[in-house]
Amino acid sequence: MKPVDVPPRPGFPLRMPSGFGKAIAPKLIAAGARVTGPAALKNTQKVASMPVPGVPGVPGVAAGLGLDSQAVRARMVQKLAAQGVQDSRVLAAMAQVERHRFVDSALVNQAYEDTSLPIGLGQTISKPNVVARMLELLVKDRDGKLGRVMEIGTGCGYQAALLAQLAAEVYSIERLRGLHDKARDNLRPLRVGNLHLLFGDGMVGYAKGAPYAAIIAAAGGEALPQAWIDQLAVGGRLVAPVQGTNGAQALVVVDKTVHGTTQTLLEAVHFVPLKSGTSQT
Ligand code: SAH
Repeated sequence: MKPVDVPPRPGFPLRMPSGFGKAIAPKLIAAGARVTGPAALKNTQKVASMPVPGVPGVPGVAAGLGLDSQAVRARMVQKLAAQGVQDSRVLAAMAQVERHRFVDSALVNQAYEDTSLPIGLGQTISKPNVVARMLELLVKDRDGKLGRVMEIGTGCGYQAALLAQLAAEVYSIERLRGLHDKARDNLRPLRVGNLHLLFGDGMVGYAKGAPYAAIIAAAGGEALPQAWIDQLAVGGRLVAPVQGTNGAQALVVVDKTVHGTTQTLLEAVHFVPLKSGTSQT
């Protein structure tokens, strides 16, 4: 599957850049999430069990990208490594997951640039460098695969697909129905059996999957919800954007030990806001 064997595709003008609330189950139910209680998994979209369409892939221009995009992803990964991403598990996952399948067809030619992109409903998919940085923080100092992981903010499902390669089980929560559905559609052809998509308010977490070896949030609030800390396993790690007193966001890493939690504040970031409740839009 060498790119040189593939005839040029006019439809593939890829440009290479030079460059805390509490964990209260009833609130979750009231929010329409129904992700707790006996019927919890009814609302869980287990991607593997979904029908696979006749033609795997996405319609339109993206459908023809399969062969070519491998080389472009490899270049993206080289660039990430040059920028300091070192973990081989993270780099391998980023080489594997086809980011162009998660963006609108009009944006496909930017899918492998180091840029954030709109995914609808005012939300964005983070740029690859930020995704890789957060994933690396999550797996750092841990051998092999992570156990159960919770992601807050499924968005288009791209990071969830990466997490599914790094962890035994992934629970990914999205509060906007439109994006929850979009992620399910994007992920269906990939048949990711260990990824569970949940529609609900991620601020209350997902107690049924707890304790989590890792928790990662793609949206930032003023404080870390207590539910996330409660649902983190002892020995587990949380990586999330959080707003400082000056209003600027920074990445925070929380490690939970038998003695309590330690928080490390890292570089400034720009994530969409963490919002409570759910929306059917
Ligand atoms: N990881 C995603 C990034 C999506 S942007 C991707 O790869 O595409 C962040 C997402 O967090 C948005 O879709 C937003 O709707 C969602 N979000 C914000 N607050 C939330 C909450 N309380 N619970 C669940 N999702 C939330």
